Amino acid sequence: MNEKILGIKVTTKTKDEIIKAAEKDIKNNKQNILFNANPLIICNFYRDKEMVSEINKENFNIPDGFGTVLASKLKHGQIKERIAGIEMFDELCKLSLKTKCKIFIYGAKKENLDLAIKNIEKKYKNINICGYINGYVPEDEALMKILKAKPDFLFVALGSPKQENFIVKNKQKFKDIKIIMPIGGTIDVYSGKINRAPSFYQKTHMEWLYRMIKEPKRFKQIFTLIKFVNLVIFKNNCYNESGD
Ligand code: UDP
Repeated sequence: MNEKILGIKVTTKTKDEIIKAAEKDIKNNKQNILFNANPLIICNFYRDKEMVSEINKENFNIPDGFGTVLASKLKHGQIKERIAGIEMFDELCKLSLKTKCKIFIYGAKKENLDLAIKNIEKKYKNINICGYINGYVPEDEALMKILKAKPDFLFVALGSPKQENFIVKNKQKFKDIKIIMPIGGTIDVYSGKINRAPSFYQKTHMEWLYRMIKEPKRFKQIFTLIKFVNLVIFKNNCYNESGD
């Protein structure tokens, strides 16, 4: 089941349900792209008809961000829980072990990526990372390396909207990849250079505030959040429950 927020389909499934469905799809050779439907990404794309249509083709646009869950609740929707992108990444790493799938990671600064790869390999023993490349090389070079490595899972950490645009633009070339997911700042967190918000902020749904305090350049994002809440509350036609 899905519901639409500002025209973008968001899954009402929980993290466990998504992983179970993804595992089944891997066995059946069916691809899944997991976009993060957080308020910033929804606001970035909701006016772009082509992107909305691409994003809406996917099975699982995850409610990454308390704002998305709140939008659903305000309209008596069915989204049960917030699914942070980094938690989904963790679950997919575990799933790659279970299904013996190969992972490729594209994005972040070279130094952070090198550290993150070591930490991911330490955390998930026997994980098969078949390749990785930083997000500051020419895009063609990254694309060639990805295609040559023939991964089963591809994670793209270029920040939004670059990562979503990259995935949509090259989707045809990625037909054999089973799972594709944009992961924003996940690699920076795994590098150990940026901490995830302490559990107080996570539990009180204030992770975004912590990130803003730590990285003041994000402050302007508060205007996007205000815009998102306004659109959801005041534009009733921007929300409809049956996203299917
Ligand atoms: N990034 C990149 N290439 C670029 C721009 C950004 O690899 O051309 C990386 C950046 O180094 C960071 C990641 O994209 O690791 C995500 O950035 P951010 O935290 O701003 O993304 P968000 O989580 O807000 O989407």
